[in-house]
Amino acid sequence: MMPSTTVMWPPSTTGVRTTYAWWHQLDEQPHPDPLPGREWAALSVRPMLGLAALEVLIAAGVDVGPVLVCMQHRWLHIPVEPEAVRSFLGERLGVKGRCLSCAYDGQRLQRGGCRPFRLWLLPQDPTVLTDFRALAERLDAMRAMRAGPVSAVA
Ligand SMILES: [Zn+2]
Repeated sequence: MMPSTTVMWPPSTTGVRTTYAWWHQLDEQPHPDPLPGREWAALSVRPMLGLAALEVLIAAGVDVGPVLVCMQHRWLHIPVEPEAVRSFLGERLGVKGRCLSCAYDGQRLQRGGCRPFRLWLLPQDPTVLTDFRALAERLDAMRAMRAGPVSAVA
């Protein structure tokens, strides 16, 4: 593993940056701690929004765990508590059970279709899963800010 503060996508695309000093696991397998031997679900989000949301959580002291990055299809797959898959919030955000495959052009791809462009970003102390409710609330808030204020109808 190596520490780094920047994840760059291929040169022809826009850079997506993180200011947090993630550890990197350059191979997808084996799954990093704390995933082996426990249940989890996964939320997939786009990197620009997802990394910014995770950084806010880290800065606030909220639990953030390992994050799988697919540079081929530009997804972050964020393992969260397994209960998220059955929650209203989880259904709305498309949380999947133990599934780290990419959605691309409306189709699910097999993991092999992403190789070799997947790696894990690991927090400094990878012993927890990401707090799903806090992440979902942060993503909602960021999407609302992007959408801007709703103008009043006269
Ligand atoms: Zn992929």
